[in-house]
Amino acid sequence: MAQHPITLIGGGLVGALLAQQLAQRGFAVDVFEKRPDPRHAGFLGRSSASCAPGTRPSMDSGSRSINLALAERGLHALRSTGLADAVLQRAVMMRGRMVHDRDGQHGLQPYGIDDSEVIWSVSRGALNMLLLDAAEAAGARFHFGQALTTVDFDRQRLRLADADGVERDLPAGLLIGADGAGSALRAAMNAHTPLGERVEPLGHGYKELEIPPASELPAAVLQANDGRDGFALEPNALHIWPRGSYMCIALPNTERSFTVTLFLPGKGRAPSFATLPDAAAAATFFTEQFPGLLPLMPRFAEDFEHNPVGTLSTLYLQRWHLDGRALLIGDAAHAIVPFHGQGMNCGFEDTVVLANLLAASPDDHAGVFAEFQRQRQPNADAIAHMALENYIEMRDSVADPHYLAKRELGALLAARIPTHYMARYRMVTFTHLPYRYALERGRAQDELLEQLLHENASVAAIDLDAAAQRFRSSLAPLPELR
Ligand code: FAD
Repeated sequence: MAQHPITLIGGGLVGALLAQQLAQRGFAVDVFEKRPDPRHAGFLGRSSASCAPGTRPSMDSGSRSINLALAERGLHALRSTGLADAVLQRAVMMRGRMVHDRDGQHGLQPYGIDDSEVIWSVSRGALNMLLLDAAEAAGARFHFGQALTTVDFDRQRLRLADADGVERDLPAGLLIGADGAGSALRAAMNAHTPLGERVEPLGHGYKELEIPPASELPAAVLQANDGRDGFALEPNALHIWPRGSYMCIALPNTERSFTVTLFLPGKGRAPSFATLPDAAAAATFFTEQFPGLLPLMPRFAEDFEHNPVGTLSTLYLQRWHLDGRALLIGDAAHAIVPFHGQGMNCGFEDTVVLANLLAASPDDHAGVFAEFQRQRQPNADAIAHMALENYIEMRDSVADPHYLAKRELGALLAARIPTHYMARYRMVTFTHLPYRYALERGRAQDELLEQLLHENASVAAIDLDAAAQRFRSSLAPLPELR
């Protein structure tokens, strides 16, 4: 069937997966990507979520592995395009959070009930390259080293610049922007008709560091940790060092290293990035606050000096589309902070919804774009909210006795009344229940858990039959899971 040609801006994670799905559905898709082809040039840079919306993303040398947590929503989208197995072959399973306290003790908090409920650490670069191969194989055409600079919506022309700054004009076609948090298409749309853009900076930044494979570390350093299979730490976990207003996390890579990320306030009183002006100050801070971690990072000084501080913001837009002419998707429409590990997962969920809507009504672009926003925006707002809440949970609550008591009570109720209680984290991470539903249901459940903990001296003192009855009479049953 002849379809309108689609011009996709951005061949990152969301753009490449969307290109594959649209090409599979018979659309002619041209993708213009600012960076060179990573399959030839190496993977340059991190997500544009690391830069404030409205600014350009920072780039790094790409020599280190930057990874992401892939969960059920993202996997579901990959399954629908036949890519899930290939991705999982290049991923490391994470069964739960390994929480490291200040005394060097650590313990695993499992995410789910068994290995059917786990998340996966995947390399951003390897995933992007796999998605590019798949999209090209489906028929999408990629044009690398081509950055969108402006769009003349009245003349339906777009302007691209190559790496040397040489510009050219092209017919715009049906424009879809998957060009990330610093989206140039969003800027062009906003200049034509204000989109109601609001950017909320988190005020905290991040820096990526690295734990190399165990083979690169002295034996004495490894003794205090329970690494195995060539990893310096337990490989099948997302490690967290929660410290109240800041934290470190580490995710495993297939090459047996870990990508460590330090999240810290950007400015203000110590500790903040402003109070760690150099690697020596940072090393002292790590020795005091993250015992045992510094000796696992022999290239700490180099990494700390070389790697930039990424900034984090949440992007809210009132409008995601310009009638039937242009639409934003993924981070370009709804960049969020990374603490639920859902930005890419949410963007992947977007791609399935949009590809299906376009395939069902290929000529009604304005109708499809409006329907896409209607379906996805409440969910994007909900995961934006939950991601912000999860920062507090990860850096602070995971070590808090009240949080642990609530978690224990939740686990007891989940086993007793699975039709009426499911942890919010589980709804977000292991189901396809809409994010908005997970947020609202989570709030209602949380209120009941708080009541029970308030009324009883401990979890052990709670009458679980009565508690189960209270949940049944207060809340509707959970939807059946697909
Ligand atoms: P991007 O990945 O930013 O891709 C945008 C693409 O557009 C890039 O290839 C870029 O080069 C290109 N581009 C930009 N401007 C132009 C232009 N003018 N012209 C042409 N092309 C252009 N999500 C998870 O699900 N799990 C996680 O564990 C997770 N961890 C994260 C950790 C950190 C520190 C950060 C910052 C984010 C994390 N995320 C995570 C979020 C995830 O990275 C993003 O949601 C995801 O990358 C969004 O994909 P995207 O394709 O929309 O945007």
